[in-house]
Amino acid sequence: MLKIKSSILQKMIQYCEKEKQEAGNEACGYLVGRDGVVTEAYLVENAHRSPTSYHMQPVAQLVLQKTLRELKLEEMAIYHSHVATQAYPSRRDIDNATAVQDLFDGHYVLVSLQEPGRPIVKAFKIRDGNVQEEEIQEVSPEGRHPRGSEDQRREDSRFRGND
Ligand SMILES: [Zn+2]
Repeated sequence: MLKIKSSILQKMIQYCEKEKQEAGNEACGYLVGRDGVVTEAYLVENAHRSPTSYHMQPVAQLVLQKTLRELKLEEMAIYHSHVATQAYPSRRDIDNATAVQDLFDGHYVLVSLQEPGRPIVKAFKIRDGNVQEEEIQEVSPEGRHPRGSEDQRREDSRFRGND
């Protein structure tokens, strides 16, 4: 199961819709958080600039990972969009995930923008070439970690530049 704040789910979808509208390409990035809840979404440049594939720009990825270490936030999911296909990992997505499964064992989130105005978001675990769908549970902003969200607001204002 992947728990994610509703506002962050919407933010991720907006990143993906914007990239499709402006460039026609797939968007990609990380969903991060702590204590098992996704509390922030980051967009990372798609170095492929492609409507059918993604590759996180390596320097941007490293800079973000450094920021996450400083904020003590974990990479909980890698997301990317499919601009014209369903919310399911492609053959290449599965191969790429399997290649790095010992380095990243979080979720893969797919955002399908196939139907205009009706984004579909699904989460998966991918291991050894096998794809397993995982439930996504939305958590309201007033969720279980009031103190955590207070910290998060402070951190957000420090790192607003990332938007
Ligand atoms: Zn894909």
